[in-house]
Amino acid sequence: MSDVCPFCKIASGKAPASIVYQDDNVMAFMDLNPVNEGHTLIVPREHWENIYEVPEKTLAEMVAVVKRVSVAVKKTVAADGIKVIQLNGRDAGQVVMHIHIHVIPAISGSGATKGHHGRITLERKDLDETARRIRENF
Ligand SMILES: [Zn+2]
Repeated sequence: MSDVCPFCKIASGKAPASIVYQDDNVMAFMDLNPVNEGHTLIVPREHWENIYEVPEKTLAEMVAVVKRVSVAVKKTVAADGIKVIQLNGRDAGQVVMHIHIHVIPAISGSGATKGHHGRITLERKDLDETARRIRENF
């Protein structure tokens, strides 16, 4: 629990939020600056800054909620697709330093489907090499 963390304030009931789901460990609520209608954030109630710190068990509980929220958001806004995004560190675009997973609906023809695709192109062998190096770090 951090006194200055906006998501801790929401989790403790000290700040308002449009809550989609909550249980003992996880909350889901509407993003205050949404990409589009239905943009939802999933957070743990406990303060963990990022994916490096959060316990695997907590992350697994978050992801279970992400699935349920995604199905619900897709149905709710008649989305053609759902983006699930999780950012770690300011260089990655993380703004609130309390881990959260974005569920963002995508509407066909809105341009949002392009997302972060297409910035770089790598050969298959380069992709395979990167995958191998990641596996070594497990
Ligand atoms: Zn927090």
